[in-house]
Amino acid sequence: MTPGNLGIGMTSQRTRERLIQRLRDEGIRDHHVLDSMRNTPRHLFVDEALASRAYEDTALPIGNGQTISQPYIVARMTEALLEGGPLESVMEVGTGSGYQTAVLAPLVRRVYTTERIKVLLDQARRRFQALKIRNIVTKHTDGGMGLPEYAPFDGIIVTAAPEGIPLALVEQLCPGGRMVLPIGRRDEQALVRVIRTTDGYEHELLERVSFVPLVTGVS
Ligand code: SAH
Repeated sequence: MTPGNLGIGMTSQRTRERLIQRLRDEGIRDHHVLDSMRNTPRHLFVDEALASRAYEDTALPIGNGQTISQPYIVARMTEALLEGGPLESVMEVGTGSGYQTAVLAPLVRRVYTTERIKVLLDQARRRFQALKIRNIVTKHTDGGMGLPEYAPFDGIIVTAAPEGIPLALVEQLCPGGRMVLPIGRRDEQALVRVIRTTDGYEHELLERVSFVPLVTGVS
């Protein structure tokens, strides 16, 4: 390794640590979540031209009009999903870059992730392979209908915003299972946690967010 490479490596390690400190300052407490964020190389989930901005706490474009979520939001959603006890099987709607999936993977037994845009999913699959993450099942499909063949799930995470709580997804949660998702139109969205009860569901608002919309069909 040349001194130049070493320099870049050390800088990026420091930059990553700064991001983790920022997440702590913003109120992320779960050290499993913080460790997973520290260990997940976000620069490999964006285009090379944007790699130098990968450890800024900001959403970035990933092509096809979509974005990789802001690190704080990934941490917040993962923490909200895990709060209340460990999860075995989690479904994700909206693989996108695959970053949220990769952060979640070490924290649960298996993640089933769905993406409607094939080119994005193929790119994410290559990233999971390169990083040797083996507990992710990917599916090119409209995830708004869930994945009946793998249901029920202990947890569901949705990274694109529907206008209301999708009942098809609630029905694929185990009793006591939880779902974290943004709800509403772009300029008035809230992050919501839904808990499946024996005869329905409860929900709580977490905070204001801004996600791309959940879209039906595949492309
Ligand atoms: N978690 C991703 C966020 C990507 S943006 C990341 O951090 O990179 C949201 C993604 O949801 C987009 O890639 C979009 O194509 C996808 N999406 C929107 N509606 C969908 C649907 N009905 N089913 C599956 N994926 C969907």
